[in-house]
Order: sequence, then C-alpha cells, then structure tokens
Amino acid sequence: MQDHLQIKDWGLGLKGHTIIAGPCSAETPEQIEQVCLDMKKENMIPDMFRAGIWKPRTRPGSFEGIGEDGLKWMEIVRHHLNIPITTEVGNAAHAETALKHKVDVLWIGARTTVNPFAVQEIAEALRGVDIPVMVKNPMNPDLQLWIGALERLHAVGIHKLAAIHRGFSDSYDKRFRNKPNWSMPIHLKREWKGMEVINDPSHIVGNREGILETAQRAINFGLDGLMIETHHDPDKAWSDAKQQVTPARLKEILSQIDFKDTLLEESPSERLSDLRNAIDHLDDQLLDILQERFSLIDQVGAYKREHHLTVFQSDRWKYVMESRTQKGIKKNLSEKFMKELLYCIHEESVKRQEKQLREADPVKKQS
Ligand code: PEP
Ligand code: MN
Repeated sequence: MQDHLQIKDWGLGLKGHTIIAGPCSAETPEQIEQVCLDMKKENMIPDMFRAGIWKPRTRPGSFEGIGEDGLKWMEIVRHHLNIPITTEVGNAAHAETALKHKVDVLWIGARTTVNPFAVQEIAEALRGVDIPVMVKNPMNPDLQLWIGALERLHAVGIHKLAAIHRGFSDSYDKRFRNKPNWSMPIHLKREWKGMEVINDPSHIVGNREGILETAQRAINFGLDGLMIETHHDPDKAWSDAKQQVTPARLKEILSQIDFKDTLLEESPSERLSDLRNAIDHLDDQLLDILQERFSLIDQVGAYKREHHLTVFQSDRWKYVMESRTQKGIKKNLSEKFMKELLYCIHEESVKRQEKQLREADPVKKQS
C-alpha cells in the first residue's frame, strides 16, 4: 500500500494522540467565540478545532450548515486558540471554498465516502494542493470503499492522510447511533500499514453518556486520536445536540481516559519477546495440525468419490459444529468465535473435496 505521512509529520505541530474538538456545526460568530473562550477558561485546548460548515442531513428541512460565512469565523478560533482548523467538504466547490479560506485540514464525511464520484471530484479539486485530508468511514461497513476513497486522494498527490472511524449505520442495533464494528478500523490499519485512525465516539454513541467508554475502547484498540463534538451550550446546539459535550466535560473525559502507549516494535521487552516466541511456536503447531486435518479431509473426499456420495453431509456437519462449539465454550472460547472458526474450516474442506470430485470426473463436453 502507498506511503503517506504520519499525522506528526503534517507540519501542524500535532503529536501523540490527536484530539480534535469543536461544535458539530458552526452556528454564529458568538457561538464559535464562546466555545473558544470556554476551552481557554478550562485550559482544554485541543490539537485541532472542528466545525461543520456544510452539513449533510438525512432529511431536508433541518439545519444544513451556515455555509461560506462560517469559514470567515474561523479567524476567531485562530485569534483565541491558535490551533489548526478542520471542516467537512462534500463536493469540489466546498473544497475550493475551504482552500480559499485557508482551512488547515479537510475531512470527507461518511455520506460522501460512499460515493466514488463525489470523492473523485473532491480529489480533482485538490490535485497539486498540499493539504491534509481525513476520510471518515462510509455509512456501510465496506472496507474497500473506505480504502478506495483514501486511494483516490493519494493518487492526486495528497499524502497527508488519516482516517476517521465514526461507526456504521445499523438500524437493528439500538445501542449505538452508528455501530462501531471495531474490526473495521483494525482491518484498515492492517491493510494500509501506518494509516492512522481517529475515533469519533460522538457519532458512534449519539449521546453524551457513552462517549468516555467508547473513546477508551478506541484507545485500547490502538486508534490514534479522538474527535469529540464540543459546544458551549450543547442542549441548544443546532445539530447533534444530544451528543455534544461542554469543554469542561471534554476535559473531564480526557482526564479519565487511560491513554496507552503504542508499542515500540523495534525494542519489545524480554518478557514480551518470550511470550511472542511461545505464540510463534504454537502457531507452527497449529499449522501442522491443520495440514494433517486437511490431509484426512482429502482422504474422506476420495472415499466420497468412490462411493458416489455428495461432499456436503448435513448430519456430520451438525455434529461437528455442535460438539466442537460446546468443547470450545468449556475452554473459554466464545460461541461466536467457535462458529466462525468452524465455518471457515468447513468451507475450506467442502471446497477441497468438491475440487477433488471435479478433477477426477470432469464434466463431459457435449459434442
Ligand atoms: C460530523 O462530523 O458532524 C458529521 C456530519 O459526520 P459524519 O460524516 O460522520 O456523519
Ligand atoms: Mn455532528
């Protein structure tokens, strides 16, 4: 995967876990100023100030953002806090307007990431411009779409890139406004080495109460920063009122989070090395066992072919699934993990045996 610059190398003075805070939407110059003053009063100055200027709303008629005027108010932020400013852009015109007003960092919202045409249009508007861009995950849990948006930006020369994990729309799971699906940011980090991911607990949780817990989990998983919606008077916010917190509460949340160190891979301690060596050894054994198991599977496949039997045998599958899952649960392995593991092994077994049948008895060509 392509090289890109780490957040600390963006030239904006950002380091460690990046904390981005500010209101969901810029509303009035007075609101922007009051948020800044309260941040100052609390000595709670984030690394970057966020404010939505163009708001993508699910239904028309609600507040759709203040537009270009709001960008002029960002001078107030510079004056009081002197920190970089970031805003969402949803099309090329937004990107051009944001550049005109010298916004320091752009972000692409979840509703835009789902649309490759829109992302490409923004990328073209930024061709040749040296500006950092953060890409929120798409509304649906599609890792390729998320990576694709980052690639489109990378391809036009934007190398100061980061991702934002804001959760995924799931109308069945009422615990979250947007379900976190933690495996997605982890997969992104695995697939694009070095890609930093900022967690946005505000949009994941959708209320004030759950922000601390979700933010802590993000840090535990190894995500690289937090974007938390902050307003001087959250109840009166023009958008996302339920999930915004005051600067005082933000300070409290951040002071309660146990920020973990990201391990220095080059110099792990002796104890960690010993544990990892033991795991490497067990993984070798696991692979030997799998090899042996698949060799037996192949022999069963040969038997099925000789006796003219189908590959999939439902009674046997049911027995394997149930007996192993129960044994696994007794060994403190979760039912979900056992089922996924067994599905994976079984699927591979069925494919191998079907391939054996196909190769031994190829379909006769019609003459
Ligand atoms: C926002 O950050 O205010 C926003 C609209 O985010 P998302 O794209 O995650 O919905
Ligand atoms: Mn919001």
